[in-house]
Amino acid sequence: MPKHSQKQAPVENAVVPSGQDAVSSSIFRFIGAAKVEATALLAAIVESSEDAIISKNLDAIITSWNHGAERTFGYSAEEAIGQSIRILIPPELAKEEMTILERLGRGERIEHFETVRLRKDGTRLDVSLTVSPIRNHDGRIVGASKIVRDITEQKRFKQQLQEERERLQVTLASIGDGVIVTDLSSRVQFLNPVAEELTGWKQSEASGQPLELVFRIFNEQTQVAVENPVSRALKEGRIVGLANHTVLIARDGTKHPLDDSGSPVRRADGTIIGAVLIFRDIGDRRAAEESRARLAAIVESSDDAIIGKDLQGRIITWNKGAERIFGYAENEMLGESILRLLPPERFTEEEKILEHLRHGERVDHFETVRISKDGHQIPVSLTISPIKDAAGNVIGASKIARDITRRKQTEESLVKTKSELENHARNLEARVAERTAHLQQTIAELEGVSYSLSHDMRAPLRTIQSFSQIVLAEAGEKLEPTERELLQKSISAASRLDRLIRDVLIYSRVSREAIELTTLNVEQLLRQIIDERPEFQSPKAKIEIQTPLEPVRGHEAYLTQCITNLLDNAVKFVPAGRQPEVRVWSKATDHQVRLWFADNGIGIPKAAQERVFGIFQRVHGDKAYAGTGIGLAIVRKAVERMGGTAGVESQPGQGSRFWLQLPREE
Ligand code: ADP
Repeated sequence: MPKHSQKQAPVENAVVPSGQDAVSSSIFRFIGAAKVEATALLAAIVESSEDAIISKNLDAIITSWNHGAERTFGYSAEEAIGQSIRILIPPELAKEEMTILERLGRGERIEHFETVRLRKDGTRLDVSLTVSPIRNHDGRIVGASKIVRDITEQKRFKQQLQEERERLQVTLASIGDGVIVTDLSSRVQFLNPVAEELTGWKQSEASGQPLELVFRIFNEQTQVAVENPVSRALKEGRIVGLANHTVLIARDGTKHPLDDSGSPVRRADGTIIGAVLIFRDIGDRRAAEESRARLAAIVESSDDAIIGKDLQGRIITWNKGAERIFGYAENEMLGESILRLLPPERFTEEEKILEHLRHGERVDHFETVRISKDGHQIPVSLTISPIKDAAGNVIGASKIARDITRRKQTEESLVKTKSELENHARNLEARVAERTAHLQQTIAELEGVSYSLSHDMRAPLRTIQSFSQIVLAEAGEKLEPTERELLQKSISAASRLDRLIRDVLIYSRVSREAIELTTLNVEQLLRQIIDERPEFQSPKAKIEIQTPLEPVRGHEAYLTQCITNLLDNAVKFVPAGRQPEVRVWSKATDHQVRLWFADNGIGIPKAAQERVFGIFQRVHGDKAYAGTGIGLAIVRKAVERMGGTAGVESQPGQGSRFWLQLPREE
């Protein structure tokens, strides 16, 4: 194939409209001229085109090659024309050319087909192809024209755009606030994860839904639905914020207090194409604000002065309590030195307090004195705590000052009352001691009197007793039986009176005497007592000792008296004809020993069991059982003098169990 000049080729191959009408020759001529002009014009267009315009025949041989092609592929027209079009096709895309040819064969045109081509220097090039068949005058396809547009730049731009979009997506997805994007008709296009979480809608479900459905908001206080900021933003074409107290209801009914805004999304030319809604859950912030407000209210309503100061001692807050206690209004004190409240002699105190604070320490209930506006000294109790910033640095201090004037007054009056009371008590004690001494003296005198009385009474009584016995012995036979009986009665009355006097004497001695305690062998003592008294021995009675008996601390004569009295009663208070049986045993605890005396006697009714230890108390009648009613009173008194106690357990008819409890041997 001959080489064509680049200018010839397009003219030869171009498809030129042919005049088909039957017209006059002049017209033909005109048209012929026009045809030549039009062809030249087309050639010029092709030549000046930025795009590569190439033609090829059906054998894929390049038949024309414009400037654009030269610039795009690097081959000159001379180099390219006559070569196979395959020099431009990367080897892996060889098949593509076949397909193109096939389609051309069918007379199809291929438009904006994006692919890759090779330059002369081997580099690759992104291109968009438009391929059209070239027909000859008969309409037969003889080749193809190819417009090749270099789209490297365009591709890069697209790529950039794609990256930009992805960056935007990632940004929106990772943003801490909820983001919803809508189209012009307020239908949801995009939700980021925070928005998904707050609304409870997934992007896939929400996409295309009306915003009102996905983003349901109402006023927390009025409970009325709030107009969506997006619809207003779209209507008004500006950024619209939400009023306070807006609450979002998520799909599951959870409520989130919201802070949000909607703004229109515009194209570069300013046309609004949708809206973006940005919102955040301010539940935590709201809670923090509420708790701050509560704390502020507490501070404000406190009766105590609550004062904030910086580390230089300048006052930064001043509550109502401070105003009330110190008399200064807030505006008088803010920025002032805290020293204004201190009496000059206490200035060093503030230095010490500041020192504590700088070390982050708290000062608790420090009692001192401050000065009020009118110059009064006010006793106060201070609690001072450091105020720290988020990093933990001490930046100031809060001071709670409590006016303790009242308390101080109360304390003072308490101290006064206490000392008055103490004085009073001392006086009383002195008076009691005085009276007691007086009483003791009186008692001693009385006891002396009763002792000597009793003692002195015994001598004449003995005289009456012995003389009556002599008369009875010597002149008894001469007397009438009634006279003898009278004499007998006076003898026994005298001896009863003697026993009584003896017992009273013992009782009064036991009450008064000073005694010393020693360790006593109870068992030995008991055996001696039994040995000396036939009425405690067989056959008159049976006394069984459960050995060993624990030794005790006591006074020998007193314990002998106690045991004798108990045994006397035990053998006495038995029904007539029954042999008295007594069992004695001991039981020790940590510091005490209890001695038990159980008899088989008539027993004592419950109600009388405590009374029998009183003086002159007798439960059983005089006739059956003789006695003075002093024996058990002596027992209790003697045991108490030895540091112990005495008692009884009994049931009428079932015997009695008397016990003595004494300190244990050390
Ligand atoms: P007295 O034995 O001289 O009557 P006490 O003071 O020894 O006086 O006893 C007071 C009273 O307690 C007795 O009159 C008696 O009624 C009762 N009593 C004392 N010991 C016993 C006992 N072992 N069994 C029954 N009654 C007793």
